[in-house]
Amino acid sequence: MTDLAADRQLDHDVIIVGAGFAGLYMLHRLRSAGFSARVLDAADGVGGTWYWNRYPGARCDVQSFDYSYSFSDELQQDWTWSERYATQPEILRYIEHVAERFDLNRDVQLGATVLGATFDDAHSRWTIELEGGQHLVSTYVVMATGCLSVPKRPSFAGLSDFKGETYISGEWPHHPVQLSGKRVGIIGTGSTGIQLTTAIAREAGELLLFHRTPNFSLPAQNRPLDEEFTRELKSQYDQRRQEARTTTRGYPVPPILSDLSALEVEHEQRLEVYEAVWRNGGPVFTSSFADLLTNPEANATASEFVRGKISSIVQDPATVEALTRFDHPLGTRRPCVDTGYYETFNQPNVALVDVHDDPIVEITADGIRTASGSYDLDVIVFALGFDAMTGALLRMGITGQDGTTLPERWSDGPSAYLGVAMSGFPNLFTVTGPGSPSVLTNMVMAIEQHVDWITGILEFARDQGTDRVEADADTEKLWTQHVVAIADETLFPRANSWWTGANIPGKPRVFMPYVGGLGQFQQVLDDVRTHGYEGFSFS
Ligand code: NAP
Repeated sequence: MTDLAADRQLDHDVIIVGAGFAGLYMLHRLRSAGFSARVLDAADGVGGTWYWNRYPGARCDVQSFDYSYSFSDELQQDWTWSERYATQPEILRYIEHVAERFDLNRDVQLGATVLGATFDDAHSRWTIELEGGQHLVSTYVVMATGCLSVPKRPSFAGLSDFKGETYISGEWPHHPVQLSGKRVGIIGTGSTGIQLTTAIAREAGELLLFHRTPNFSLPAQNRPLDEEFTRELKSQYDQRRQEARTTTRGYPVPPILSDLSALEVEHEQRLEVYEAVWRNGGPVFTSSFADLLTNPEANATASEFVRGKISSIVQDPATVEALTRFDHPLGTRRPCVDTGYYETFNQPNVALVDVHDDPIVEITADGIRTASGSYDLDVIVFALGFDAMTGALLRMGITGQDGTTLPERWSDGPSAYLGVAMSGFPNLFTVTGPGSPSVLTNMVMAIEQHVDWITGILEFARDQGTDRVEADADTEKLWTQHVVAIADETLFPRANSWWTGANIPGKPRVFMPYVGGLGQFQQVLDDVRTHGYEGFSFS
């Protein structure tokens, strides 16, 4: 491929991999900055995670009007969200609208599976190899491949013996799936499994939820957005976005959150705060007090409150026990956000199968067998999670300088300067990569932040008359150490979460996202930029 890159003309200044929120905005920004760019995506449509995750009940748990692009005021004024938390079909329609509105589709190549990306050191070019034999050569590559885009696939013994239907949540078919009256088993109780549960319980004849580790789930308190709310929101959208950019989460949080320690206030006052935030709804519950994610005693008060809520909702004591046997502090695995999840267990057609001490042994022709029993099923749905943050990058066949591959480079865990670039891989950028706030925040705001910054560094390189940009190894190492060090000051690393890679056997354990928050990260990015992109070399 090296010879090919030398012989061939450049196809584009930038190849972008991924046509989700990140890739589409990257294309828009690069075009506006005068670069030629092309987006590649294996899917048959734009949308990234929202293209693939079309399982029943799929919706976002960041409020719709925050989980949307802020770069165009006309767009945010014209588009009207119907619900506080948007469903997958509505988000996908929005992304498709953006692609059309900004004329992006003409530079998006769909059905394009990337098999490899190889850097030609002599000519400072990347060659991208696609399934089917096509090769594209570019100066830069931006990996907009998503943090949760490689589903963890089932590897249960006997899987191929099953006579019924099987579905993977992240690869849900495009045709309607008929579940009504059927015996359905769901394996997995993360955000996906919980959303599937409430949706499928309405339809299935019988629903068995195979539950291994309890996750905290918080009520969404979803609602339709009425005209008055929307008018008010739109009249202040810009201020809302300005504020969002300075916050930890990438969206403004309600004023009912306390900035005190949970231990500084009386029991009654603490309960009032928890009750108010619970009623308000959404993931902000984990910020009810200032120290819930840093102080185990403070966290225990919040965990206790949620346990109490679950016990008051779920009628069956054994189900309560299974749902509340938490092995981690609240918020140290990503909390789920639901509409009626715990209530679902009171339905006569729904049961929880606790596979914590009675693990799934195999899939049989008729269903699922655990160590102590067998469950006959017509349909099995796997909601097993993702090889998060690094999965898509590691399987992309990326080879940098000196023939070093990314899997070799990251064999002890990911390392990337600002989550955006890696030494030894010049001219390659990652949007919301490991070491950036990404999945701990509102992804769309985090994407815009990274995309704007990547565009800035490419413009800077062009102004300098160079076309080779590389993160310095020492700076990258210091940043990666800093990311781990500030995570260690919190409770986050105490949990076996996908944030640490613990959900994938053999994956190195490193807390991957930057816990400092979106606003603080912006200050770091601004600082690096105003110092002439300190920590990068240009040649
Ligand atoms: P997840 O949180 O990693 O949950 C995967 C589930 O599968 C866990 O309950 C896990 O149990 C279970 N599991 C995996 N292998 C298993 C096995 N061999 N036997 C039994 N159980 C097994 O994955 P997810 O639910 O897809 O969510 C991932 C992330 O995607 C979320 O945290 C969120 O960031 C994002 N997401 C967001 C939304 C939203 O915005 N509303 C919706 C869906 C997903 P163990 O914990 O015991 O391993």
